[in-house]
Amino acid sequence: LDGRTVLVTGGAGFIGSHLVDALCEGCDVRVLDDLSTGRRDHVHPEATLFEGDLCDEGVLDAATEDVDVVFHEAANASVARSVAAPRASHRTNATGTLAVLEAARRADARVVAASSTAIYGDPTTVPVTESEPTTPLSPYGVEKLAADHYVRLYADLYGLDTVALRYFNVYGPRQACTDYSSVITTFLEQACSGQPITVEGDGDQRRDFVHVRDVVSANLLAATTDRVGEAYNVGTGDSVSVAELAALVVELTGARSDVVSVDPRPGDITVSRADISKARAELGYEPSVSLREGLTQLVVGD
Ligand code: NAD
Repeated sequence: LDGRTVLVTGGAGFIGSHLVDALCEGCDVRVLDDLSTGRRDHVHPEATLFEGDLCDEGVLDAATEDVDVVFHEAANASVARSVAAPRASHRTNATGTLAVLEAARRADARVVAASSTAIYGDPTTVPVTESEPTTPLSPYGVEKLAADHYVRLYADLYGLDTVALRYFNVYGPRQACTDYSSVITTFLEQACSGQPITVEGDGDQRRDFVHVRDVVSANLLAATTDRVGEAYNVGTGDSVSVAELAALVVELTGARSDVVSVDPRPGDITVSRADISKARAELGYEPSVSLREGLTQLVVGD
């Protein structure tokens, strides 16, 4: 990608800002972000920030002019917010993705778009392959599913180079502590402030936690693959229970916090784990950060 001009939507957010940091190594990088949850100080100083809304065609056209690749990370990433305000969330996640695809079509740019494990809902088989039935359980999941379909459709219908990356539970530095996807951040904050660690339900729910560095590498691979119009799971292929996660956080922080059980979250899914064989075989994706290593880095603030 060296020497290319790229745009990262949502580049002031958690995942987007890490992607921007990696791309600034050799690319001319632009960021489009409305700073609704993102932070200006997360944007790499060498990147050009276009502050604005995804659905604003003017700013989108300015940001995509002459770009080679658009990494589309901007979204309302909160399931809870989508439940509270589904129309606003739909506008950003579904309509916003369509706006990005249209702008990319005008600019003839490749689009690598962030999709989500939420599109599968409660999976019928684990590990989850890309052909798992999609029955989302939240407005967020429905919006991401619509976006995931649009991304594929733009390859099939208009010949645009597009790839959808279906992230599982991403964690790492700069993650905001707002929703279930950030259970790691929540547990770490509780442990570090000496509060009890609150596990919802019995703690047997299993999740595939993937470090943001591996998510960045999947994006870079997707930016150059010749397999376009495809969707790939991006996880580790392993899972850990929420109770095991709580115990690991206690061990690594040395906290004296108790682990306590609180009410289960209604509609919480039981087991989620990615089958990553398609990404491995077709993109050459290989996760490299173990949960222990990723958590240790978070604890020591490296
Ligand atoms: P984030 O909230 O940190 O980043 C999203 C960014 O988009 C923010 O900087 C925000 O300001 C920006 N944004 C929101 N609405 C916008 C709009 N209308 N116009 C312009 N910018 C807007 O979230 P994240 O965790 O970094 O998520 C990045 C992507 O990954 C999202 O598409 C999300 O759905 C997806 N994803 C995340 C996870 C996870 O575990 N974090 C899992 C699956 C999928």
